[in-house]
Amino acid sequence: MNDLFKELGLTSLAKRLPQVLEQARQGQPSYETFLQQALQAEVDGRKQRAQERRRRAAHLPTTKSLEAFDFSFQPTLSPALVQDLAGLAFVQTATNIILLGPPGVGKTHLGIALLVKALEAGHSALFTTLAHLVEALEAAPTQPWRHRLRRFLKPQVLLIDEVGYTRLTAEQAHQLFELVNARYEQGAIILTSNTSFAEWGSLLGDEVLATALLDRLLHHAEVLTINGRSYRMKERLPTINQANQAQGVLA
Ligand code: ADP
Ligand code: MG
Repeated sequence: MNDLFKELGLTSLAKRLPQVLEQARQGQPSYETFLQQALQAEVDGRKQRAQERRRRAAHLPTTKSLEAFDFSFQPTLSPALVQDLAGLAFVQTATNIILLGPPGVGKTHLGIALLVKALEAGHSALFTTLAHLVEALEAAPTQPWRHRLRRFLKPQVLLIDEVGYTRLTAEQAHQLFELVNARYEQGAIILTSNTSFAEWGSLLGDEVLATALLDRLLHHAEVLTINGRSYRMKERLPTINQANQAQGVLA
């Protein structure tokens, strides 16, 4: 029987067969129900494998969830708006999500959490940082530009993290513009940045290019500005305050 499974490519059913048979021995289903259960086992296994493939292809540096995000720590951020985004309409409408704020306020956390939601719903996604993105676009100049770009065009959701830490060369700035332009109204971008839009001119080294890029990026976009405290300092602040008080310094 294993040969038949192999020939038909029913690898999931082959793996789950002992359970499927055990279930049938106990439940004594009709022939129809048994066949249905067996096929369902194959379908479930395929879905799971596809999910795992998508997840690996997304290159998440770590996993985060919306459920683990403490909204009470960031009162300037609307939980309703984030929950609404988690409904994933933005993927269908190719609406961008821009997360702005100082370090540690949860921009990457929220970006990854939304990416995870998209993956779970069956969308393709890719995580990258701006530094890595421009490096990858520049690398392998022997490869045609279209090929290099394709990797960042194909995923339905592209998360570009840490925009603002890297100043771009003229070539890199132009390539970033090309990417944003190619995804415009085609595929959603989630972008995190500690840099206000006014500073993008110096980030890209070109005011005119920055204006054109922001024009496309922000035409269909949800901008979330988080003005709160750093969560990374949350645990450390009380200790720092105590140390300061011990030294007679006003905290
Ligand atoms: P940013 O990208 O804005 O610099 P991160 O998203 O990397 O910040 O957050 C820093 C760390 O703090 C991460 O481990 C993240 O999971 C956690 N974190 C940040 N904000 C929250 C929050 N409101 N609730 C729970 N964890 C948070
Ligand atoms: Mg970050």
